[in-house]
Amino acid sequence: MTELLRVSNLKKHFPIKKGAIIPKQVGAVRAVDGVSFSVRKGETLGLVGESGCGKSTAGRSILQLIQPTSGEVVYKGEDISHVKGEKLRQLRREIQLIFQDPYASLNPRMTVEQIIEEPMRAFKVPSGERKKKVEELLNVVGLSSYHKHRYPHQFSGGQRQRIGIARALTLDPELIICDEPVSALDVSIQAQVVNLMADLQKEFDLTYIFIAHDLSVVHHISDRVAVMYLGEIVEAGEVDEVYENPKHPYTKALLSAIPEANPRRDKERIMLEGDLPSPSDPPKGCKFHTRCPFAEQRCREEHPVLKEVGAGDHQAACHLVDEVVKQPV
Ligand code: SF4
Ligand code: MG
Repeated sequence: MTELLRVSNLKKHFPIKKGAIIPKQVGAVRAVDGVSFSVRKGETLGLVGESGCGKSTAGRSILQLIQPTSGEVVYKGEDISHVKGEKLRQLRREIQLIFQDPYASLNPRMTVEQIIEEPMRAFKVPSGERKKKVEELLNVVGLSSYHKHRYPHQFSGGQRQRIGIARALTLDPELIICDEPVSALDVSIQAQVVNLMADLQKEFDLTYIFIAHDLSVVHHISDRVAVMYLGEIVEAGEVDEVYENPKHPYTKALLSAIPEANPRRDKERIMLEGDLPSPSDPPKGCKFHTRCPFAEQRCREEHPVLKEVGAGDHQAACHLVDEVVKQPV
C-alpha cells in the first residue's frame, strides 16, 4: 500500500501566559509532544488514548486547523505543514473532518440540503450538480431525499452524524480525519455508524484517521492503531497484533478494561494508579511512570523511545518491554 500521509515529530505546545499588562510566557501545555505516524492509502489508522492525550490536537494540526509548533506533515509526498492560501483550500477539499458532536457542527438554521451543499458552494460547483449530489449522498448514508428540507433538530443523533458524513463526502475527499465520530452516540447506534463508515470506505476508496477513546470501536474499524499518552505515541502497530499482544503497560491497562475486545479473557484487570498528570508539567523520564505498575528508577530518569517489538511494524516505547511482556497480567 502506498503511503498517503506522514507526520514526523509533530508538536503542539500551547503557551501559558501570565501578567495582565505585558503577558509573559511562563510555561506550555505540551498537548502534542513529538508524534510520528504514517497512513497508507485505503487504510484506517486508529488513534486512541484517554481524553486530553492530544489525539484531537494531532488530528487538527494536520490541516492547520490548529497551527503546529513544529514538525513535518507530508501528504502525497509533499510537505504541507506550511502551505497557505489557495493551496491550503484545495487541501481542505481532499482532506475532510468529521466531528464528535454532529449537532454542534451542523448549522441549526440550515436545511439538510443546504448543509450538504455548502462545501460544494464554496468550490463553485454548479447548482444542478449540487442538487444531484445531495440526493445521491443522502441515499448513500442511509437517508433519503424526503429528509432534505428538514432541519438538524428534527433528526436523531445517529441521523445527524449521517448528515455530517454526507457533507464530508461532497467534495470526493481522499482522507477523512474522524474525531470521535461516534462517541456522542448511544452504543446501539455506534455500531451502525461505524459499519456505514466502513462500507463507505470501500465504496469511495477512502483513507481514515479514526480518533477515539473507546478501544472496542477502534478495533472494529482500524487496520493499524497508535496509542497515545500525554502527547506521545507509546505503542503502534497492526490492530490485531497490538490488541492480542500488547507490549506497553498503558496499552495493556486500557485493553484489560475491555474484556470483550481482548481474546485473552483470563487476564486480570490492570488498574492504573493516580490521575492523568497535567500536560503542562509532564513527569520526567517515561511520562507514564507515575501510573505504571512496573516503573523502576530508570523509568523516572530516561525517556523511552519507540522501538520495534514485534511483527508488522509493532512498536512500543518502554524500557522494560521484555520484562513487562513476561509479567503475568
Ligand atoms: Fe512503565 Fe517504565 Fe515502561 Fe514507562 S518505561 S511504561 S514506567 S516500565
Ligand atoms: Mg478530543
